[in-house]
Amino acid sequence: MLPELNHEEILRYSRHLLIPEVGLEGQRKLKASSALVVGTGGLGSPVSLYLAAAGVGRIGLVDYDVVDSSNLQRQIIHGTSTIGKLKVESARAKLLDLNPDIQVDVYNEPYTSENAMRIARDYDIILDGTDNFPTRYLTNDVAVFLGKPNVYASIFRFDGQVSVFYAKEGPCYRCLFPEPPPPGLVPSCAEGGVLGILPGTIGTLQATEALKVLLGIGTPLIGKLLLYNALDMSFDFVQLKKNPKCRVCGPNADIKELIDYEEFCGVPGHDHGEEGSAGAGWDITAPELAERVKNNHLKLLDVREPHELEISALPGAVNIPLGQLASRLSELNSADEMVVFCKGGTRSARALELLTSAGFKKIKNLKGGINAWAREVDTSLPVY
Ligand SMILES: [Zn+2]
Repeated sequence: MLPELNHEEILRYSRHLLIPEVGLEGQRKLKASSALVVGTGGLGSPVSLYLAAAGVGRIGLVDYDVVDSSNLQRQIIHGTSTIGKLKVESARAKLLDLNPDIQVDVYNEPYTSENAMRIARDYDIILDGTDNFPTRYLTNDVAVFLGKPNVYASIFRFDGQVSVFYAKEGPCYRCLFPEPPPPGLVPSCAEGGVLGILPGTIGTLQATEALKVLLGIGTPLIGKLLLYNALDMSFDFVQLKKNPKCRVCGPNADIKELIDYEEFCGVPGHDHGEEGSAGAGWDITAPELAERVKNNHLKLLDVREPHELEISALPGAVNIPLGQLASRLSELNSADEMVVFCKGGTRSARALELLTSAGFKKIKNLKGGINAWAREVDTSLPVY
């Protein structure tokens, strides 16, 4: 039995009720439906706003981050007045302002193998708004195990992808990508940047697919991957097939329960601007570096991209972008004492791995990058 709509709801959703493919029955279906949005960032913002506006009766939000001013270029569900507040609470307030008739349940915790099945179990559909590979594989596997559709999207700079992974009717994310990329090969938006509008475009497509699936109308992107490029304004489609060797949804699947996704991907399952670290013994903090540069001839190696030097720079530092480091090692002396840095300490930690394997021994990673330096040592520099 679908829930009835009261007079206020009939007025609110009248533009839906006028469409024959939705109509009163479709709107009642939406009222009875539920959607879990994993991540309340760039994608989660338009996704949850439009699902709430459309009248999806129950929306779940998972995130454990707080709103930062660097989010607001794209994460339009948050605002300047909610900087420093929990993202799930900031988002819930906005959604309930948009539509007080729906229920918004929030999970202020990292989405992990321990809680994901429990959280996702009650929802009809899962929307992947994550920004990292461990959570993306976890989201996929949870959807496969629970037999639910996973509306997937990902974004980087000017490029976006959208698909509906639904193992009952088509391929899953693992059918397409059986193995994660090597750690460090694919930069995150925090390192590589993203056009602020891009998650708006892609998240809106993602929400469209979710509504189609919930209403049972149209042809969802099951077995199809949409590739979008904002610079060309191009939409390309790739046909996807179920992979018979898929380890979660194939006939001989050997992964039957959730695994350790951080181990599987070799990277942490979060990308929330924590200070990048190279691990115990390899880091130097900004105040420690400030002491050291006074006392000796320490070399500084900046592994950021050249255009980032226009934002902030350390005097005397040599700039070799991480992507060129392997081919430009001859420009460095492995006998030098050297501190490597980037924006936040993540790229420089990878540079350290490369340098140690090339025989460099007297090297340290500036923990938290030049942003830590800007916060703790030279506040005349901006944080970005
Ligand atoms: Zn699969």
